Amino acid sequence: MADSHLLAAHHQGLAARPSPSNTGTADVIRGTCLCGAVRIEIDEPLEHAPEACHCHQCRKQTGNFYVGVNVRRANLRIAGEEQVRWFQSSEQVQRGFCGTCGSTLFWKPTIAGYQWTSVALGCLDDELGLKIAKHIFVADKGSYYEIDDGAPQSAGA
Ligand SMILES: [Zn+2]
Ligand SMILES: [Zn+2]
Repeated sequence: MADSHLLAAHHQGLAARPSPSNTGTADVIRGTCLCGAVRIEIDEPLEHAPEACHCHQCRKQTGNFYVGVNVRRANLRIAGEEQVRWFQSSEQVQRGFCGTCGSTLFWKPTIAGYQWTSVALGCLDDELGLKIAKHIFVADKGSYYEIDDGAPQSAGA
């Protein structure tokens, strides 16, 4: 199954970019949803640090809180995008999840000209050594956990 997905991606030009992965210095970050139907590639380097959002919407959608990193859309390729379901969670934001396994994948503003899509960190397969750089909407966080990693916290955005 994985091979056929890779093949499909190749035909769409999604995985055609050569990667020196045999050198151990891969310049592409890869990820998948839980069932593997959606496959993600992100060109390095990442330009933003991950943020955790504790707002009501993120808590409902993820079952806890959302951790994602903003990726320039030009650097993001999605194979199996027809498997992604988009939920319009507010007037200018869509949330993308796998229609088969339900994995949280994307947080995507639909504002014209906006260049960034947040990719959920949990779907990335590579060990990137990333740390949450900021917690936002902590005023909405659940009472059943503490935020004690030392990263800055904001009550709202
Ligand atoms: Zn899936
Ligand atoms: Zn949120």
